Amino acid sequence: MKIIAIGRNYINHAKELNNPIPKEPIFFLMPDSALLRNNKPFFYPDFSNNIHFEVEIVVKISRLGKNVASKFAHRYYKEIGIGIDFTARDLQQKCKEKGLPWEMSKSFDGAAPISKLISLEKLGDINNINFRLEINGEIVQKGNTGEMIFKVDDLIEYVSQFMTIKIGDYMFTGTPSGVGPVKVGDRLTAYIEDEKLLDFLVK
Ligand code: ZN
Repeated sequence: MKIIAIGRNYINHAKELNNPIPKEPIFFLMPDSALLRNNKPFFYPDFSNNIHFEVEIVVKISRLGKNVASKFAHRYYKEIGIGIDFTARDLQQKCKEKGLPWEMSKSFDGAAPISKLISLEKLGDINNINFRLEINGEIVQKGNTGEMIFKVDDLIEYVSQFMTIKIGDYMFTGTPSGVGPVKVGDRLTAYIEDEKLLDFLVK
């Protein structure tokens, strides 16, 4: 199982980090050891002083695919969840300055909490889904999948040119604006529409 994560897929988020608006999707991978499930706590790692939250819609791949055309991509997923792409922003900044890969800042243990999944039959159009993140009860990020620069089906087409997507893979689809730091003791709750799906503590 692999986790494919898309970067800079919402214009407002690219702008808030002073990044250019991408002309093609940007992606990186996380290993299975980054997964955090069942609302287990996230333990603040020793190697960073600036861990940021990024709330993202997560698509679970349900079919093996290679070179999937966008118009057929909807056949490759049935369920979505919500996740946090925790980022060690201090380490990421160093990697970016040196032009190095990002993995140490993005793909560490517990960097990818994922909620239980819900069926798209219930939710409807993948390109019109509202989601949000609250920290200690205050809304810090909210978005709608319709605001993505590259839509889910286009992302599947793009990524599957390079690597086979497999049953059980996850794809984080990018974060809207409003990212910021977490601290020990914070409680993160994330919603798709009005259903609370993630609820965990930073320890
Ligand atoms: Zn992200």
